Amino acid sequence: LGLEGKAVIVTGASRGIGRAIAQTLALEGARVALVARSTDALEASTRELPGSVAIAADLREPDAAEQVIAATLERYGRLDALVNNAGATKRGDFLALTDADWADGFALKLFGAMRLTRAAWSPLEQSRGAVLNIAGVGGRTPSAEFTIGASVNAGVMALTKALADRGRSVGVWVNAVNPGAIATERLQTRIRAHAQAHGVTLEAASSALAADLGIARFGAPEEIARVVAFLLSDAASYLHGAVVDVDGGQTRTL
Ligand code: NAD
Repeated sequence: LGLEGKAVIVTGASRGIGRAIAQTLALEGARVALVARSTDALEASTRELPGSVAIAADLREPDAAEQVIAATLERYGRLDALVNNAGATKRGDFLALTDADWADGFALKLFGAMRLTRAAWSPLEQSRGAVLNIAGVGGRTPSAEFTIGASVNAGVMALTKALADRGRSVGVWVNAVNPGAIATERLQTRIRAHAQAHGVTLEAASSALAADLGIARFGAPEEIARVVAFLLSDAASYLHGAVVDVDGGQTRTL
């Protein structure tokens, strides 16, 4: 894909989709800065990935973005791409969600991505680099038990379009991917909750959840990672401001 030697930041890279993205980009020859809250969780990954570096940061903290960009520039001397993947929003009944739940969801995924992109913008202008935001299908098709995630993901999509408009004239490429239901720990939690709520086995809960969503199966993190690698490559050089659903056909609207 022509990603050899590119310096890329991937947030939320200690597990799930972020880890798969970091692994896939490293296999393509990119040098990857993996960001998560603690380096402990990142150590196993960075040991496997040549040229990678682990950066510990709580991206809900306002100062974290500048520190992550500074640490990456110190290590690689340049920045070619930023993948904003870290995110965790609480599901549940709207009336049971607190102000703190809402603030926490926005602090990490929307404000975290916004601050990192702002701190990365100048080095990305220099490299004519790219921002790739991981949003989520819930932002296009909101549902009652995913009010925070839906609102945050819709915000991430809007930010993608707005920054694509800014990046157009200076050569910073900004796109987003909307994963569907991907088999990560987050999804296992959802399956366990469904099993408990309906008094069924995990297998039955898993099948019922997939059927509810209208999909044949859950996706694998690598199936998101491969699309991300393509979108960051020159093979996708005219794609700009796009929001790409990678969801096994779950989204049925335009
Ligand atoms: P995950 O919970 O498996 O991993 C989240 C990652 O973010 C971890 O590496 C974690 O350490 C990191 N993280 C959490 N809080 C952080 C903080 N405060 N500071 C820095 N890093 C922090 O998540 P996942 O399922 O792989 O999801 C990744 C992204 O994809 C999220 O933005 C999520 O909303 C989105 N998404 C996931 C699915 C899915 O089905 N898994 C579907 C749609 C969208």
